[in-house]
Amino acid sequence: MKDVFCIGELLIDFVAEKQGSDLSKAMVFTKKPGGAPANVACAIAKLGGNGKFVGSVGNDPFGNFLLSVLQENQVDIAHAQQCKTFTTLAFVSLSDDGERDFVFSRGADKQLVYDPELKKGIKDNLLHLGAATALLGGALEKAYGRYFFDALTQGAFISFDPNFRGDLWKGEEDCFVKKCMPFIEKAHLGKFSLEEAQLLSGKKELSECCAFLHDVGTKVVTITLGAEGTLVSTAKGRHTIPSIPVKPIDTTGAGDAFIGCLLYQIADLKDPYEVLENEALLLPMIAKANTAGALTTTGYGAIPSLPVASAVFDR
Ligand code: ADP
Repeated sequence: MKDVFCIGELLIDFVAEKQGSDLSKAMVFTKKPGGAPANVACAIAKLGGNGKFVGSVGNDPFGNFLLSVLQENQVDIAHAQQCKTFTTLAFVSLSDDGERDFVFSRGADKQLVYDPELKKGIKDNLLHLGAATALLGGALEKAYGRYFFDALTQGAFISFDPNFRGDLWKGEEDCFVKKCMPFIEKAHLGKFSLEEAQLLSGKKELSECCAFLHDVGTKVVTITLGAEGTLVSTAKGRHTIPSIPVKPIDTTGAGDAFIGCLLYQIADLKDPYEVLENEALLLPMIAKANTAGALTTTGYGAIPSLPVASAVFDR
């Protein structure tokens, strides 16, 4: 089983308890671990794979809490860093009109320092670049670029999820698109939501979005479609792979569970690059990844709802 390095943010989501009020009125918040790359590392580790988290939290009680959650879920945190800057915090509520109200206090996640030692670890393994905050500047963006370069020179299998957060890029969407292009160019596997595929390609139709992403360079394009499953596009063709029926309670982390489960299966192959050519191998993996995504929607919170291997593979 190969290692999967997941680079980016691990943060606290303070979620307003009472839905329907904006943040200025919210009184009670629940502390939840958040950060897409950390969720992906947990998804892999919970399935029994080698999920490794590379990111920075503060040397404070929230940072300690976040790292302990990853450890409890068997994620390797040997490459996580704790710095003097306070742990990154996000405060989220749903306002009366159903809109998300969101403020973000960026801290420690930005401070990740590049570790040249990791280059050896990345060699011939998998690298998942799925940070929502990595392209926002700071040391993290530099480290992210350098690990990306290491992955390219060390023959690592590269997975990219743009994790676009509208709240973080208001009025700067063009800059976001531009910054994503080198990753789209070199990714072996890309995971996009419909909104991301449309934003990045500037196209509306799914077929046009896929054609654009392939033209830029991504080999396997996946576009997750919620209850509709996943559209997967390779050099050989395009397929919509259905999900399983579930009654969703909370969709947080479904996309992370999906890509985590897909990477877990790819990491188990002798030659991960085989999925780029072999649809008979890839498509059943997508179906299992859909199952992992679906199961994650059936419980509250992302990390607690991520499935174990038997829930996905013994059904
Ligand atoms: P994201 O969180 O990135 O927006 P999705 O919500 O599309 O991603 O979920 C990822 C995957 O999880 C989907 O492709 C699908 O296979 C599965 N999934 C998500 N929501 C549901 C649902 N309501 N019913 C069945 N499967 C779902």
